[in-house]
Amino acid sequence: MTAATPLGPTWYEATAPAAAPRPALKGEVNADVCVVGGGYAGLSAALHLAKAGLKTVLLEAKSIGGGASGRNGGQIHSGQRKDQEDLERELGDTHARELWTLAQDAKALVRSLISEHDIDCDLKNGILHAAWKHADAEPLRRYVDHMAARYGYAQSYIEAKDVPAYVATSRYHGATNDPGGGQLHPLKFARGLARAAEAAGAIIHEGSIVTALANSKAVTTGGHVAADHFVLACDTWLGELDRSAGRTAIAINSFIAVTAPLGARAAQLIPSDLPVADTKFVVDYYRLTPDGRLLFGGGENYTPRYPRDLKAFVAKPVHRVFPQLRDVTFDYAWGGPVGVTLSRLPHFGHAGARTVFAHGFSGQGVALATLAGQLMAEATMGTATRFDVFAKLKHRPLPGGRLLRTPIMALGMAWYALKDRL
Ligand SMILES: Cc1cc2nc3c(=O)[nH]c(=O)nc-3n(C[C@H](O)[C@H](O)[C@H](O)COP(=O)(O)OP(=O)(O)OC[C@H]3O[C@@H](n4cnc5c(N)ncnc54)[C@H](O)[C@@H]3O)c2cc1C
Repeated sequence: MTAATPLGPTWYEATAPAAAPRPALKGEVNADVCVVGGGYAGLSAALHLAKAGLKTVLLEAKSIGGGASGRNGGQIHSGQRKDQEDLERELGDTHARELWTLAQDAKALVRSLISEHDIDCDLKNGILHAAWKHADAEPLRRYVDHMAARYGYAQSYIEAKDVPAYVATSRYHGATNDPGGGQLHPLKFARGLARAAEAAGAIIHEGSIVTALANSKAVTTGGHVAADHFVLACDTWLGELDRSAGRTAIAINSFIAVTAPLGARAAQLIPSDLPVADTKFVVDYYRLTPDGRLLFGGGENYTPRYPRDLKAFVAKPVHRVFPQLRDVTFDYAWGGPVGVTLSRLPHFGHAGARTVFAHGFSGQGVALATLAGQLMAEATMGTATRFDVFAKLKHRPLPGGRLLRTPIMALGMAWYALKDRL
């Protein structure tokens, strides 16, 4: 795996109950389905396949949630990464509506899995979407009206003067309050899905990197799984197993820092206790933790290397939003790879007759990758109706080929990041 190895420890690792390591794959194993990847997509696929009675083996290179699923912002977003208005224009009404319905299914699936399997992961409802620029405010207000009129989806618009009652900053020019969004503890959710999959009969091996898929076998250094079907849920590492499928997404490193406990200041900082994501291209996303810290995602880079001082790196966007926190120290900082496609829509597809994949959730994977697992399981079992809503989306390979893709994308991303500051 060549993408940047994330740094630890994370606040999530520090606050999730310890998980006993699972043994690596040894020897030859037969299965109906072999799932590669132990993030939300792979775990949800394994859970749904095992529940349906299929012998399912999941191979994870590191540990459960060791990719993006155990280290993300924990925000549950509505819809796709692209607004419904854009989707209607680009894809037509019917397809846009199908994508909205599936995004609604995705949030409902997360909530139902948590409740059905009793996953204790600090789930709360609601999310704010804040206008960073004056020019972003009116489109946000119009979008609230559009979603109510066209989809019957209720959100409220918050005027700029009222925003500080929700979040104590003067930076925003307005916001929306989306009660259908939410927040959770990502690693607890991933580990809970793993336990649920095992309870349903799936077998999980950690420390088992798949180095090749050939002749109906997933090969690791310790053995192989011979299976009738394969589910590739490797997100930013997909290209290492299937170069062609992997060409449609790039790994962007996103960084998170967590302050020392804020005590009584926490409730003053975010009186609504809602998570917040803003409208910038390089999004600031943040929320309070149950132990009264600010968990803030801000800043990204596009190379295999992380900034040397991650706490100082994330402190910059924190202080732009909350200058009152300049005296506060950071206890944790880490990064992780976000798989992003050019269209900002996930890429689902088939790699041969008996292999499905889904990746590139573009910052919306808490809900969408969990759904992707269910849809890949359905497609594997012969019902691809919902899978095909995503699979029929057209994806362009990112420009530049293997060697130049990252530097070319870095240039493009830097341009858009610059526009945030104009
Ligand atoms: C810092 C950060 C913040 C984010 N914030 C949010 C947020 O607030 N809300 C949101 O919705 N989304 C967010 N995301 C995105 C979200 O986390 C991802 O879209 C989602 O977790 C992807 O799930 P996945 O299962 O597809 O991939 P991953 O969780 O990355 O899992 C893929 C797994 O496959 C394993 N793997 C890869 N190759 C192999 C191989 N060859 N053999 C065996 N195993 C392999 C990896 O080790 C990894 O564990 C964020 C991402 C990051 C990094």
